[in-house]
Amino acid sequence: MELQFNLKAYYKTSADSAPAKEAVAAFFDEANRTILTKGAPEGQGAKVSGWEFGADRIKFVLESGRYVRVHDAALRLKKQLAGILGKEYKIGIRGIEVEEFEILLPSEKELKVGKIPYVKCMENIPGGIRLLLELGEAEMKNRVPDRILTLLEDKIEAAQYGAKAEHWNLLWQSEPKEHSFKEDPTQAMLKEGWLKRGASRGQWIHGPQSTRIFRTFEKIVLEELLEPLGYREMIFPKLVPWEVWTKSGHAKGVYPEIYYVCPPATRDPEYWEEVIDYYKVTHEVPTSLIKEKIGDPIGGMCYAQCPPFWVYVAGETLPNEEVPIRVFDRSGTSHRYESGGIHGIERVDEFHRIEILWLGTKEQVVKAANELHERYMHIFNDILDIEWRKAKVTPWFMAQEGLLGLAEGNVVGTTDYEACLPYRGADGEWLEFQNVSINGDKYPKGFNVKLQSGEEIWSGCSGVGLERWAAVFLAQKGLEPKNWPEEFRKRVGKMPKGIRFL
Ligand code: ATP
Ligand code: ZN
Ligand code: MG
Repeated sequence: MELQFNLKAYYKTSADSAPAKEAVAAFFDEANRTILTKGAPEGQGAKVSGWEFGADRIKFVLESGRYVRVHDAALRLKKQLAGILGKEYKIGIRGIEVEEFEILLPSEKELKVGKIPYVKCMENIPGGIRLLLELGEAEMKNRVPDRILTLLEDKIEAAQYGAKAEHWNLLWQSEPKEHSFKEDPTQAMLKEGWLKRGASRGQWIHGPQSTRIFRTFEKIVLEELLEPLGYREMIFPKLVPWEVWTKSGHAKGVYPEIYYVCPPATRDPEYWEEVIDYYKVTHEVPTSLIKEKIGDPIGGMCYAQCPPFWVYVAGETLPNEEVPIRVFDRSGTSHRYESGGIHGIERVDEFHRIEILWLGTKEQVVKAANELHERYMHIFNDILDIEWRKAKVTPWFMAQEGLLGLAEGNVVGTTDYEACLPYRGADGEWLEFQNVSINGDKYPKGFNVKLQSGEEIWSGCSGVGLERWAAVFLAQKGLEPKNWPEEFRKRVGKMPKGIRFL
């Protein structure tokens, strides 16, 4: 099956179009050879395949493939037709009315039929998918059919991408190490009274001991990596409105994993009195009533940490000497709804991360990433002394945007850092504990950031997950400071006492 658009529609006319019959027919005939083929490869333009004249309309049938799609064709025709009808026959065109808009697109996979705006019918047919759209001229002008096609093509690609196993390429791996500690570090920490579960799901209260471990990691990252490489600390917002996620691209898919934020509809105490009284009488928080009294979600809690930074540079032109800009943020928590995936301290709904971010020319961005990789290598080999590996992975959004990270010579993409967890056994899954990403021009484009020289701006980011570092380090080294590498012990100092209970 080939991609096909079929449109049945009519131009609404201000008067009977019969007198113009011959001129219009001649025009359509000619258009099939001229304006409807412009910009398309030989023989692949749109085609008016039928027309009919009515008292207040000119009906037409258009078909096309990928090039000069039927809605573009209908708009192109309208413009010229208006000229012909107006000048010679004093007939005006009032608009385009769509009777049937069909898209047939090839797909090897069946797709789940879902609710898509302007799609009144979607069905899997042999070799592809058939869509019937319900829309008007305004939507055609706004390229809604193109967006629907892109959406469907993304879904088809996602279905195929998901079926392929390999989007993971090993780049480096350390020598295997002996690990004498074989426990799940979270269980061990619980036993030793290092931390407790928080009241919310996937949340921990870190006692003085695990907090010291986190702070030591931060100190290592600061001293061994951020300071030597000239990174400056900033504070990024942690409540992220839709405006940011529409520009960062997260609005395309973040919904299942975010914690939503809703403001009160008003701060008038009277408006809330009912809620307050209910609580005072029942000692239960009336959540359904609250739901009625809050506004629409304005966004969500910090998910990826770097998107809110971009508002700082959005719409700006950076002087040539200002790049590369290297900054980092460690000012707050990240939140993800991990659902059933929650595990220990390493897969939680609330976590702590140092987000490192850099932007500049393509060369500067690639160089900055390499410098980070070198410093990380030093930290994991010489200070933490862990068994780890790194791999180039292609996140779905990048594959989707055609930035396939595995293609030869392509520097855009993510490098995941992973470590083995001895308690999971020799064949156990390795844990991603951080990453380094080169994001190409995705963010500068989304937030409209320019460089004085006119050169393209690129950016990169790296998320140091403190929970993940701790999970990996303690899983391999255990909780006993005497079993920790000397370089780490030096930096951690004397471990603080925990809080005891009777
Ligand atoms: P995973 O595949 O393990 O869920 P991810 O691909 O979702 O990880 P990223 O979106 O790349 O992770 O996030 C960057 C970093 O943030 C991760 O390397 C990790 O250190 C940290 N991180 C992400 N999700 C969590 C979580 N639920 N708990 C703790 N840390 C996390
Ligand atoms: Zn980031
Ligand atoms: Mg995840």
